[in-house]
Amino acid sequence: MLLSELSGVGRDPAGGVTRFAWAAAELELRSWFSARAASLRLDVETDGNGNLWAWWGGSLPGTAFVVGSHLDSVRSGGEWDGPLGLVSAFAAVSSLRDSGWTPTRPLAIVAFAEEEGGRFGLACLGSRLLTGAVEPAHALGLVDDSGVTLAAAMTAAGHDPSGVGADPARLAKIDAFVELHIEQGRMPLPDGARGLAGAGRPVGVAREIWPHGRWRIDLAGVPDHAGTTALADRVDPVLAMAEGIVEVRRAASELGILGTVGRVRVMPGAVNAIASSASLWVDARGQDPDRVHELVTLVERRLGVAAALESWTDVTRFDAALTADVAAAIGGEVPSLPSGAGHDAGVLSLAGIPTAMLFVRNPTGVSHSPEEHAEEADAVAGVAALTAVIRRMAS
Ligand SMILES: [Zn+2]
Repeated sequence: MLLSELSGVGRDPAGGVTRFAWAAAELELRSWFSARAASLRLDVETDGNGNLWAWWGGSLPGTAFVVGSHLDSVRSGGEWDGPLGLVSAFAAVSSLRDSGWTPTRPLAIVAFAEEEGGRFGLACLGSRLLTGAVEPAHALGLVDDSGVTLAAAMTAAGHDPSGVGADPARLAKIDAFVELHIEQGRMPLPDGARGLAGAGRPVGVAREIWPHGRWRIDLAGVPDHAGTTALADRVDPVLAMAEGIVEVRRAASELGILGTVGRVRVMPGAVNAIASSASLWVDARGQDPDRVHELVTLVERRLGVAAALESWTDVTRFDAALTADVAAAIGGEVPSLPSGAGHDAGVLSLAGIPTAMLFVRNPTGVSHSPEEHAEEADAVAGVAALTAVIRRMAS
């Protein structure tokens, strides 16, 4: 089985895997990456931001073709999200080596650090630092749940944090990047089918990453005793918060986009007290950015308060020419899916590097969960696709 050599790493009793950046399980995977690369006679290096690179023909003339993904996971996540792209890349290089093929330009496999933001809260941290989308001082000061900074976590893992930051020389060496990834969700196809399962195909390409925003809404109340305050006398922000949560779902449904409240905070959080304040976080995304903003407007109107924007990412369109090359390498007509999730490929794309993605069928679409899964035959089809892509792009 393709992932079997990694499957025990960071495994919890509930069946998920927890592989936070720079912690024990992820360090074990980093060692695996280096050993796997060495067994294929690839040259391994760690860049200043802690991203791992395995080079084949690194000193060849010309710019590099790069494939890869990430090793880290969310808490109790699935084992496919990230590692599938790396295991597949090594399997592709192995079969190319066995066939006697050699690249005519530099070829690299990269594992980006802290893609999920599971430990330090900022997704795609390794690629964002590489492209200069995040300030080094800000990143190094990020803390995990135990109060450990990124700088301290890197140092403890033996990585010197002083090299963190934009690396334009490295970026300039990358001609194109292709990330193979487990399919997430059952996203709509132009013909109305949902996901690769609906299309009846093992492998597809990504068209775009949907625009995505996060907002925080703070609601004020009047704190008082739960046992002595008449209902009519209360200003209870938790009621408003509940209305806001329901409105997010109602508006998302009406607008045909995705809207989620996955985090709330009630202060002071006592069972027997009317809250002094309540906050909810809104995650909204969809094909049309206007509709994403409209959702927030509807929620603001319903609650009578303004939402504070915490982050906004515009639509990320993958490179059409590279995607056409990828499709041609794997046989022409392939399903083209939008992505509701962000990826390092999206970060590189925003930095001006031509990028494309390959998705491997996930029958249920479930991801960030122990239920995340691909059939072995589909994973093998993914390896074959990536092998064909490398052969086409680096010959
Ligand atoms: Zn991923």
